[in-house]
Amino acid sequence: MRVFPLSLLVLAVMLAGCASPAVPTPESVVPSQASATAVGGTATPESTATTQPQPSPTISSTLEFGGEQAMALAQHQCDIGPRPTGSEALITTRDWIEAQLQAQGWQTVRQDFEYQAQGGQARLPVHNVVGIKGEGPALLIGAHFDTRPQADQDPNQPQQPIIGGNDGASGVAVLLELARTIDIPPGRQVQLAFFDAEDRGGIDNWPFSVGAAHMAENLPGARPEAVVVVDMIGDADQQIFRERNSNIEINNQIFAIAARLGYEGQTEGFINQPKWTIIDDHLPFISQGIPAIDLIDFDYPAWHTLDDTCQQLGALSLERVGRVLEFWLEQPVGQGYLPLVKKEG
Ligand SMILES: [Zn+2]
Repeated sequence: MRVFPLSLLVLAVMLAGCASPAVPTPESVVPSQASATAVGGTATPESTATTQPQPSPTISSTLEFGGEQAMALAQHQCDIGPRPTGSEALITTRDWIEAQLQAQGWQTVRQDFEYQAQGGQARLPVHNVVGIKGEGPALLIGAHFDTRPQADQDPNQPQQPIIGGNDGASGVAVLLELARTIDIPPGRQVQLAFFDAEDRGGIDNWPFSVGAAHMAENLPGARPEAVVVVDMIGDADQQIFRERNSNIEINNQIFAIAARLGYEGQTEGFINQPKWTIIDDHLPFISQGIPAIDLIDFDYPAWHTLDDTCQQLGALSLERVGRVLEFWLEQPVGQGYLPLVKKEG
């Protein structure tokens, strides 16, 4: 765990990225500019506790998301090797993602552009890809598929690129297994967004979330009613807390579903308490007035080190996140803001 002295908190929040470090006691943290415009504002644990729906322990039998299938999708990315922005491996990964989506009947949209940071050296191509299915009010699930070009938290080889088993591959794996398994309800559009250039932040003057920022400003489909970003969610030792820049209502829904599915608790994956404040791909959407959350497990010692490989992942961890999102995405449309109803098996 990374705990920063209070005097460094503001600096840390401004400088860090994907997982920009964070703080267990955020009352002293200055919210980012993006979070100040958040629809849900900054999270306060008290309000979330009182408005949380009380789920029944019934587990739906209709959930199909498979943890082992997701593991194989993550392993494929690890086998490609490091996948930093601007690399051939990133293009290989993008093309594979696109093929996976199309094989499951998703329309795909590419977003290609070039980016150079102010005062930076490299001008690099950036490649987002989105899968779109269904018509109607949209929900967007996003993950970054680029990996960090430098393991700057690694004590021994900080110049080497990371494999990104958890920080990259895990989120993509969840989205692709969702592409196979979700039954989109009538009148709903689902967008599966794969962001490039999340994890070059702080290198060559690049910010984090370059790809997500471009997408938030150039929406590829209907304007999403809600956005869920998944990042670093596959750690076998899974601990997903409520991220503090995230929209409270969406988090209420997600954590209520997690509880219903039996995934809530200190060792069950989802811990229904606020903890970290993270700069990640949800912030550009919040800046556009779109409610968004970041599902992230920042209690991850291998973060931005060469140890962040697919060896760190657990099939059950991927399955928990995938099934929660599967359940959430399959809620019927039309009863106001994402009503949580029982899924009949
Ligand atoms: Zn990262």
